[in-house]
Amino acid sequence: MAPFGVRNGDLHCEGLPAETIALAVGTPTFVYSTEAIRDRYRQLTDALKDCPFRVHYSMKANGNRAIVTLLRELGSGVDVVSGGELARALRAGFRGPDIVLGGVGKTAVELREALRAGVKLINVESRAELFLLDAIAGELGVVAPVGLRVNPDVVIANAHEYIATGARGHKFGIEHGEALVVAREAIALRHVQLVALDMHVGSQLATLDPYRDGLARLMDLARQVRAAGAGLKYLDIGGGLPVVYQDGDQEPDLAGYGALVSRAIRELGVELIVEPGRFFAGVSGVLLTRVLYRKESGGKQYVIVDAGMNDLLRPSHYDAYHRIDAARPSGKRVRADVVGPVCETGDFLALDRDVDDVAPGDLVVVHGAGAYGYVMSSNYNARPRAAEVMVDGNQYAVVTRRESYDDLMRLELEDPHWRDA
Ligand SMILES: *Cc1c(COP(=O)(O)O)cnc(C)c1O
Repeated sequence: MAPFGVRNGDLHCEGLPAETIALAVGTPTFVYSTEAIRDRYRQLTDALKDCPFRVHYSMKANGNRAIVTLLRELGSGVDVVSGGELARALRAGFRGPDIVLGGVGKTAVELREALRAGVKLINVESRAELFLLDAIAGELGVVAPVGLRVNPDVVIANAHEYIATGARGHKFGIEHGEALVVAREAIALRHVQLVALDMHVGSQLATLDPYRDGLARLMDLARQVRAAGAGLKYLDIGGGLPVVYQDGDQEPDLAGYGALVSRAIRELGVELIVEPGRFFAGVSGVLLTRVLYRKESGGKQYVIVDAGMNDLLRPSHYDAYHRIDAARPSGKRVRADVVGPVCETGDFLALDRDVDDVAPGDLVVVHGAGAYGYVMSSNYNARPRAAEVMVDGNQYAVVTRRESYDDLMRLELEDPHWRDA
């Protein structure tokens, strides 16, 4: 059964009509399919079965407690990119060895927290960070397990410029030409142990080429780093597996991916670390939103819905395409802009799109909203953040309640304490 599909005229999430959830929980609401996530976890682990590996779900894609807990129960670790994500991961029951820390700008505090938690791996992205980590580990009397995130200098065709990360000149990682020098420095330091090389070449990668090119470079470097005396244990190839957002998008070639990386991993005799985020969460979630108004302006049709850019930023931030359907399609179509209530011209979910000819009160489903959706949402225009719901078969649960007006104001001090400098 497809996780989201129309049955008896109504869009369902697994066994439940979207409208049933919307009536009970309100809108806007993110709805996630348990079975979709389980299924994608199975697909990926199947593809990797010919080499030793561990999945470390990239929780920045969707850090919802129920989702990370589900993935933990399936056997996944996590990839975190901040102290906040580390705290959330620990709260969700992950242990140090389940956690990889990445990020281009980790603070000393975050590095200390990661070492205290006993994480499996810290991927450093600069020489300066390597030396800071060595100093902090020394203070704590521990040896930090370190990976070097290398910028493999691969160019990705057709990616939005904000989701390509592995070309020369991007802020991420250590320049490929510098990596061996930094590796030698790492080997010489007393409080770090160089155990991994890491890359993350981008997101929504349409072909295996960036993996193939990046992996070749990483393998080359791994041999040199080994020869220089590092006892490598892991090769971390990051995330980036794509999902299908629209007609023409391709499902990832998981068999090809598995074969490609297994060969490399077996040759090196290390454990593979993969950090998919979008692949698990992207099409496992939808955003339910209700039509508030229809109007025509400047010869154009507008569908005004109750979810905006503060709920789902991807259309305005990445120019991202999300399929948008009426929860009960009438068969009538209209060309329209689907826009939110936020006071910004950039507040839209779709522009000039052929959509169901919906009326005020109709429920609309925004597909592919599971990854980089709720986590990027904000309170702009003092809009409470949406609720999040998990569905499993014929059951659902609210796993994050909708914010209240009190929530919006809970950090404000009624009576600020003024001090002299
Ligand atoms: C964002 C990110 C990921 C996940 O990327 P997806 O495209 O969602 O799979 C993995 N690793 C690192 C280091 C990242 O920054």
